[in-house]
Amino acid sequence: MRDVIVVGGGPVGILLACLLAERGVDVEVLERRTEPSMLARAIGIHPPSMRVLGQAGVAEEVLARAVRIEAGSVQSGGRTLGRLSFTQMTGRFPFVVALPQHETEAVLRARFEKLRPDGLRSGVGVGMLHDRGHHVDLIAEPALETADDASERGGDNGLEIVGSARYVVIADGARGQLRDAVGIASRPLGGGDTYLMADYPDTGEHGTEAVLFFERGGVVESFPLPNGRRRWVAMTPTLMPDASLADLTALVHGRTGVQLPTCDAVPSSFSVRQRLAATMVQGRVLLAGDAAHEISPIGGQGMNLGWLDAVALAPALTHALAQPIEARVTLAGYDRRRRRSARIAARQAGFNMAMGRPARGLRLRLRNVVVRVLATPPLNSLLTRAFTMRWL
Ligand SMILES: Cc1cc2nc3c(=O)[nH]c(=O)nc-3n(C[C@H](O)[C@H](O)[C@H](O)COP(=O)(O)OP(=O)(O)OC[C@H]3O[C@@H](n4cnc5c(N)ncnc54)[C@H](O)[C@@H]3O)c2cc1C
Repeated sequence: MRDVIVVGGGPVGILLACLLAERGVDVEVLERRTEPSMLARAIGIHPPSMRVLGQAGVAEEVLARAVRIEAGSVQSGGRTLGRLSFTQMTGRFPFVVALPQHETEAVLRARFEKLRPDGLRSGVGVGMLHDRGHHVDLIAEPALETADDASERGGDNGLEIVGSARYVVIADGARGQLRDAVGIASRPLGGGDTYLMADYPDTGEHGTEAVLFFERGGVVESFPLPNGRRRWVAMTPTLMPDASLADLTALVHGRTGVQLPTCDAVPSSFSVRQRLAATMVQGRVLLAGDAAHEISPIGGQGMNLGWLDAVALAPALTHALAQPIEARVTLAGYDRRRRRSARIAARQAGFNMAMGRPARGLRLRLRNVVVRVLATPPLNSLLTRAFTMRWL
């Protein structure tokens, strides 16, 4: 019987496990994959998250591998509409950190391995949870074996129990199915916009700045990455799963005039979905990260929001374990605060996506006025706070 089992060894599950292990909680992570995912996903790590990574003891390692984005600019029709500098921000991390998600995850996994050797069980998929009142049993996903094989091993009605814990955290991501399996509903918070992206060699033209091109045909975004790479993301009229790199290169050139270098990168297309769970706490089962709230990648908040769940949940769970009588109130506070943050993040992402949609004539001129006003003092400090997730 563990204190806590986390289902899902993505960035949120592993960070939470690190924070719990630091507090002396007996925690284990069950992860379906046997190999890390190398998909191009999150790159932006915001200042509040850097502080959390500091608590987990990995901020220096992340900084050593990453690029620091100290400013961002907004352009339209070849003109600069505004510029944001993050260096005026207070605190230890007056910048946004860019590091591919698979590298961040590798740093976190190495840290967890140090804190709790063998605390990560890979190749274990969890199919169902049974809250028994005083603890939760975790049932394996239906494997290719028969129920008879499982029952011979003494399972639960022929199903294999892969762990038991006083609390279970579902951190199985946006595509995870455990939230639905335990009967927690979720509702859509908008979305539907589609994008194409790829990581190109960096020509150095924009230094370490992030650049947003608000163009007639739709937004193009560009962010520096470590090792001389740069991510380019373009809004597309529809999902383009079969698009080639040449298609993305032509799209960026057509909208912005920027000629990207040729390379062997494979572009990926995605369609934005935003969802929020009806609750993040159900008895001894808790949700964290994308399992609780799926937020548009535009604005780069999803992983960061999940990490802020982790930093709120670690002390709440530690307290619930030590003071069972106060558990319900403590965990209700986690649910309230984190779903509120998710709603703010979803609204902000909705605004970011709306600003990036195709615009012409009066709409385009109005949008450019809004961008100019937002990127000029005193409103630019508000925008900087929003962009760096200071209020989540
Ligand atoms: C194109 C793109 C760009 C993005 N850019 C950014 C960005 O710049 N900044 C940002 O903050 N966010 C960004 N995001 C969002 C970010 O990738 C996610 O928010 C983040 O991965 C969520 O982490 P997680 O740990 O909650 O879930 P995941 O990363 O999805 O991890 C879930 C883990 O659970 C495992 N799992 C699933 N089901 C089971 C099961 N039944 N049993 C056991 N294990 C299971 C999975 O194998 C996986 O390893 C981006 C996303 C995309 C798609």
